[in-house]
Amino acid sequence: TLQVRLARRPVGMPDDDTYDFVEEELPALEDGRLLLRVVHLSLDPYMRGRMSDAPSYAAPVPVGGLMVGGTVCQVEESRHPDWQVGDWALSYSGWQTQAISDGSDLRRLDPSVAPPSTALGVLGMPGFTAYAGLLEIGRPKEGETVVVAAATGPVGSAVGQIARLKGARAVGIAGGPEKCAALLEEFGFDVAVDHRSPTFADDLAAAVPDGIDVYFENVGGPVQRQVFRHLNTYARVPVCGLVADYNATSAPEGPDRLPGFMGQVLRKSLTVRGFIQDEFTRSHGRDFVRDMGGWVADGSVRYREDVVEGLRNAPEAFRGLLSGKNFGKLVVRVSDP
Ligand code: NDP
Repeated sequence: TLQVRLARRPVGMPDDDTYDFVEEELPALEDGRLLLRVVHLSLDPYMRGRMSDAPSYAAPVPVGGLMVGGTVCQVEESRHPDWQVGDWALSYSGWQTQAISDGSDLRRLDPSVAPPSTALGVLGMPGFTAYAGLLEIGRPKEGETVVVAAATGPVGSAVGQIARLKGARAVGIAGGPEKCAALLEEFGFDVAVDHRSPTFADDLAAAVPDGIDVYFENVGGPVQRQVFRHLNTYARVPVCGLVADYNATSAPEGPDRLPGFMGQVLRKSLTVRGFIQDEFTRSHGRDFVRDMGGWVADGSVRYREDVVEGLRNAPEAFRGLLSGKNFGKLVVRVSDP
């Protein structure tokens, strides 16, 4: 199996020296085990956190360790009674081309229900993040305004579409005119705002004439500073991600904004609540499978994938994810199905 290991902890944007490509011999297959061929590897922003040893909610990848990641695999060889050659599975086998499993860490996928790669996106962790974070913390009501950035990504696009299904007005923020067009045409957002435009602040103000009731926080950074000016009394802010800050090597420039922010939290009775999606697995997992499965099947939630060919291209693709080059859920096609 070809493996991508963490060679050193990156400072700022992870460069090529961050990774080691290593060819590793897999042991012979024992009884009760199966050999998986990775078809799709998911690339997700949280992986930047795993490369760092700063305190976090999950342990870092050790230096020299295999890079972690969700994968969609096919069984290539089986000595396991429940798995046949060709079966599809969701795994967490990381950045490598093959893996051995005893089956306990796998979820079976049915390719007749949905394309298997959707288990990494709209029907998987990112889709669930959007669903649980928006409905449990954001709680959009009919007629309210919901704002989300990184809005063409798997989390943001699901947030906007679920908000609309709940009768709210969805305002999407994305980088560049092409992504903004997709927000309107593919994902049915009510308004799209380009955060790379020099008129971003004014465009955002015009997009939210009645203020913002839910800001689903995906990015932080300069986008956050503009959005926070428009929060309404009793607004809810599910804090999902701060991708603009993941490569930061120093504190942001300018004055300390925390006192001003806390003043706003107090005066406007804001709810600002961070979350890591798996805290909601028990409470919302079943509803997600039912609701999102139904919405994707009947076309009321659409999704977009950005497929990069070959494990060797994962490092470059991952840099793209942290700088807005991906357009939709980023997956690496590691092998042909
Ligand atoms: P995306 O596919 O949306 O990729 C990240 C996007 O972020 C980029 O395409 C880019 O979109 C935007 N972006 C990157 N850098 C910046 C920047 N400096 N300023 C503004 N926008 C930027 O990722 P996901 O949908 O997978 O994830 C979205 C967020 O959700 C991330 O913050 C992620 O960490 C978080 N997350 C949190 C989870 C949780 O449990 N709390 C679980 C899963 C995801 P554009 O070009 O439009 O700006």
